[in-house]
Amino acid sequence: MGAVWGAGAVIIKIVLLFLVLIGLLGMTGRFRSISKPKKKDGPVIKSAVKCPKCGTYLVGDSPCNCGGSGDSRS
Ligand SMILES: [Zn+2]
Repeated sequence: MGAVWGAGAVIIKIVLLFLVLIGLLGMTGRFRSISKPKKKDGPVIKSAVKCPKCGTYLVGDSPCNCGGSGDSRS
């Protein structure tokens, strides 16, 4: 019985460690999901540039299909 109880204690320790790890991962995941939208809100709106030629919304650094370059960075 002693050996069985010892194995059970080890399993309980492993389960507790697992729960702690999952809890930490969940907390970090929540923090990331909370901090992500706040950081995205500004840049996303600013980076939404309209093509001066055809008025199509340009996403990121991709140039417009019509040929009218929205940004002169490249
Ligand atoms: Zn265009």
